[in-house]
Amino acid sequence: MARAPRRRGDSSPGPTLAPSGAGALSTLPGVGPKVAEKLAARGLLSLQDLWLHLPLRYEDRTRITAIATLLPGQSAQVLARVEAVERSFRFRPTLRVVVRDESRASLALRFFHFNRAQVALFVPGRRLICYGEARPGQHGLEMVHPSYRLLADEAEAVIHDRLDPVYPAVEGLGPQSLSRLIGEALKRLPPAEALELLPDGLRERLALPTLREALLTAHRPPPDCDVTEFALGQHPAQRRLALEELLAHHLSLQRQRIALRAHGAMPVRGAGKLAASLRRQLKFTLTGAQQRVLDEVARDMARPEPMLRLVQGDVGSGKTVVAALAAANAVEAGRQVALMAPTELLAEQHLANFRAWLEPLGLRVAWLAGKVTGKARTAVLAEIASGQAQVVVGTHALMQDKVVFSSLALAIVDEQHRFGVHQRLALRDKGLSGSQVPHQLVMTATPIPRTLAMSAYADLDVSVIDEMPPGRTPVQTVAISGDRRGDVVERIRGACAEGRQAYWVCTLIEDSEEVEAQAAQTTFEQLGALLPELRLGLLHGRMKPAEKQAVMAEFKAGRLHLLVATTVIEVGVDVPNASLMVIENAERLGLAQLHQLRGRVGRGAAASSCVLMFRPPLSQMARERLEVMRASTDGFLIAEKDLELRGPGELLGTRQTGLASFRVADLARDAHLLPEVHRAAAQLLAEAPALAEQLVERWVGGAARFAGA
Ligand code: ADP
Ligand code: MG
Repeated sequence: MARAPRRRGDSSPGPTLAPSGAGALSTLPGVGPKVAEKLAARGLLSLQDLWLHLPLRYEDRTRITAIATLLPGQSAQVLARVEAVERSFRFRPTLRVVVRDESRASLALRFFHFNRAQVALFVPGRRLICYGEARPGQHGLEMVHPSYRLLADEAEAVIHDRLDPVYPAVEGLGPQSLSRLIGEALKRLPPAEALELLPDGLRERLALPTLREALLTAHRPPPDCDVTEFALGQHPAQRRLALEELLAHHLSLQRQRIALRAHGAMPVRGAGKLAASLRRQLKFTLTGAQQRVLDEVARDMARPEPMLRLVQGDVGSGKTVVAALAAANAVEAGRQVALMAPTELLAEQHLANFRAWLEPLGLRVAWLAGKVTGKARTAVLAEIASGQAQVVVGTHALMQDKVVFSSLALAIVDEQHRFGVHQRLALRDKGLSGSQVPHQLVMTATPIPRTLAMSAYADLDVSVIDEMPPGRTPVQTVAISGDRRGDVVERIRGACAEGRQAYWVCTLIEDSEEVEAQAAQTTFEQLGALLPELRLGLLHGRMKPAEKQAVMAEFKAGRLHLLVATTVIEVGVDVPNASLMVIENAERLGLAQLHQLRGRVGRGAAASSCVLMFRPPLSQMARERLEVMRASTDGFLIAEKDLELRGPGELLGTRQTGLASFRVADLARDAHLLPEVHRAAAQLLAEAPALAEQLVERWVGGAARFAGA
């Protein structure tokens, strides 16, 4: 929903913000309707949006690095001569240009997209200057799609005198045009006092520059700035921006929480008879951690204001039964419960559990997913509307308009980070009756260090199930070089001969579902040829949901020995007989993701193992990360280590943590700012709520517009 532009006439005294709306941008030289449209598509509607379109990173072209000294993971500028040019079309067109410099070492430049004219430029003997990230390749270091310029023999290489900002791309606008536009926008930055929203005391206490100064420095680092400090994101200008951004996000979450708390909720209090019968019927007793979390949940639900609780617990820690016990309490109070999961696979698993536990107690558990259609759908919708269905399990189909509950008291959402905050709110709104909203229980297996959880989930209370049910044997993990693939194949042969099942996960360096699917296909064929006596299945993101489910069902039923898959198996696969997990290119994945993948094994009685295959040579950081995986199976410890080890140059997606993405702030790097952020937020909300509003509008307002909120 587009937000109405702020009216200029009614501006109250105090700091003036840039006018919103496209009008302001179109006054910049070079911004016609076409360009304005492209900017708007990226959420850039005002001058302020351009000021806050901050560099993702900086490229250091202020020096030349000798190839001999290049390290894996290092981004650098190299001056060299073309030595050899190769083209191959094995999986897809590839151009490989080998260059060598005065340090006598060579480097490969690799291109996947190129045209003939480009190929013709790379003549052996020609000089070039290029910039890119050095990565371990098949034959030593390589740079994939570096930026480069060919130089005439005598021409001097142009060495920049300051860091180059690299901006998040705007589709249809070249990086140079974007940079120029931002430069124009910066010329119109108002004086410092007009822009400042942070209380003076705070800025002084932390010795931070004004916003004006910080913006100018971040967009155009001066030649004399400390390059390393900048690359690490630790320059005071960057800290200032990160602090303000974190503060704005925190305020926005706090505001949501306050708004939610203003609603009432149906207090769920009862003797707990249903829950007690359920517990008697279980084949196990709850762990101490499960009991503690259940108590926390029950206490919240007994109150006349809505619960908003996140239950974190490692894969296998037993979150489902806690949710089922909470559901039993709500049903006993005469109310309905909804349980939503992000994938059909996961939702079906919950359905099976809930039916097995709750139906013997006489409860009606209904199922609603996209594939429930026609008469069946009409029937389910009627049951939900009448209240006959006391518990409804499903996918996001639960959030559709047609779904009307009779009295929803508890909304349970599993694997929260796969749903946006907005979807969570949509399910909550299903339960709106008068001013009451349902209690919300959110479950996630993604362990997030406490410091970060405070910020990522400032609108939620957090409970942690930090104890595993007894009797599990921890998964044994080894890291093995890809050169020893043959040994790994033998290991699979052995395990499957003993009647066990295995996973082989193909991951790719590039984040492209298509390329990944192709690699999985190839691996599937290769392994099939090497292991003719085994039955193999293939699972990737390019397959239709029905195909995926069929393969999963076969694997689950034990009719397939080996499942070759992409990372799509990360969530929701539960096959206790599978006891061997092989992960290719493990060094490229984030620790949290590796942990999730590894959690697919070790679910049964058999001792399980996980083989992390890597491509040598490993960077120091990658080595340490694999070592963490080898040494620990504790999700929280792994998450803490991940945070510690994450450093510049290590490309880890936000996917691994599911945390919000920020423009400047980096929760790993800036976690130390959080206590200050929380203090400042409390102070602003109490003393200057108008400033708080403006901060939220400045940093989050635009993003919310962009997200279509
Ligand atoms: P997750 O937290 O990953 O969702 P689940 O709820 O799926 O974990 O639980 C994993 C398995 O452990 C299930 O088979 C469940 O029945 C079992 N389980 C849960 N709690 C206990 C317990 N206290 N003792 C033994 N087994 C348990
Ligand atoms: Mg689960």
